Amino acid sequence: MLSENPRHYSSIRQSGFYKLFLYCLITVAVIYAYELLPAKKMLVVPSKDLPHYIYGDTNNPDQSNIRWLDFEGMGWICEVPNDGNPHLCGFNVFLGGGQGTDGLDLSSYKTINIDLDYSGSDQRLRFYLRNYEPGFSNINDMQTAKFNNVHVPIEYIRDDLVLSLSEFSVAEWWITEYKAPRENSLPDFRHVIAFGIDASYPGVPGTHVFKLNRLEFVGEWVARDDWYLGILVFWVTVIVIGGAISLARLTKEIRLEHQRLERMANQNSLLAQETDRYKKLSMVDPLTGLLNRQGLAEYIELYFPQNSLRQVALVVIDIDHFKKINDSLGHDGGDIVLKRVTQLLNSSTRQTDQIARWGGEEFVMVLPDTSLDNAYRLAEEMRSLVATANFEQFPDLRITISLGVGASGGEVPFHQLFRSVDMALYQAKAQGRNRTVMTAPG
Ligand code: GH3
Ligand code: MG
Ligand code: MG
Repeated sequence: MLSENPRHYSSIRQSGFYKLFLYCLITVAVIYAYELLPAKKMLVVPSKDLPHYIYGDTNNPDQSNIRWLDFEGMGWICEVPNDGNPHLCGFNVFLGGGQGTDGLDLSSYKTINIDLDYSGSDQRLRFYLRNYEPGFSNINDMQTAKFNNVHVPIEYIRDDLVLSLSEFSVAEWWITEYKAPRENSLPDFRHVIAFGIDASYPGVPGTHVFKLNRLEFVGEWVARDDWYLGILVFWVTVIVIGGAISLARLTKEIRLEHQRLERMANQNSLLAQETDRYKKLSMVDPLTGLLNRQGLAEYIELYFPQNSLRQVALVVIDIDHFKKINDSLGHDGGDIVLKRVTQLLNSSTRQTDQIARWGGEEFVMVLPDTSLDNAYRLAEEMRSLVATANFEQFPDLRITISLGVGASGGEVPFHQLFRSVDMALYQAKAQGRNRTVMTAPG
């Protein structure tokens, strides 16, 4: 079972799938974390000491149909006479310092929390936000600031009225009166100068009592779109940087691997050279520089593989009475003689012939593609060469060699030829030495 094997867990943890799953989980969590972000709130009433005023049919406070009940607490009353004339009744609070400023940027706010007490018989109240329009409004004339408004039926006017800024629209009369160009005819909250509340116009007769307890703008610290864009930008950056790092690491690894392979190849070729050298050394007789028995075996294996019936002649050479030479000249003297004989033999072989020291004072010559007659002639030349040879160190020394000669026209394998030539040499010794004996024909 999976739970019984902790190695299962670690292999899952190391797998790319696990990481991908984890990253997805974190991303989803960050997407949802947006909902947990604290709201951005701006309390205007009651906390802020902002200029505010009321307006009615006349600016003369003694004759006005509107008056403060509680200026600090933002309570006011309207008496609308039943005389058939239109009557004004409104309240206004300046945001961002009062008239003559270019207002507050409320574009990051979504809703307005309003706690308004109202008693009266009006059916709808109007809420508005005056927005200074750069390049269009006159900063000293409040009326030229855009009139964003919303009419709210009276049944919604409670302690917890929540208005969305998206409910606001630009008043028709304002567009008409100020001949607002198209680009200024959509709601805008980037330069809000004032917030206001109006009784409906031309006015419902009777008494209307208002008290604004709370005015609060609520928005987001980070827009949802920006939050998601941030996540996207983060991952794109991670992927790009991660990709670049992986690429750099991979390139480095490839370079190192390349170097390692190169080093190995160099070591290999050095080793091969060494091996070659030792192989050669093991096949060469150090005294004469000729192939030794092992070397000759390799040579024969190469040119006369078993069962090959290639034409070849063979000469086996043995120095006569070498023991006596050793006895009279000493072992070192014997070595000098061996080297000198090697020189003589070498001087009479052809390029294609292979000569080897078979052991002691015995030599073997392999003459590829050579007839018995030619081999015999060569053997005789060598015999007389040695017999007449002078030795620098030993002027009085005369030595002789005995030779066995044989050839195969391709009808017998090499090893069989060798045996019969060895027999011929034995006969040469037996017949008194210093002579060449050919193998018996057939
Ligand atoms: P034969 O005419 O019958 O060949 O007589 P021989 O004395 O030449 O033959 P034998 O095989 O009896 O003796 C060979 C001698 O060669 C014996 C050995 O001490 C000597 N010998 C073998 N290898 C070397 C060598 O490398 N150096 C020297 N100086 N002598 C060697
Ligand atoms: Mg001998
Ligand atoms: Mg011998």
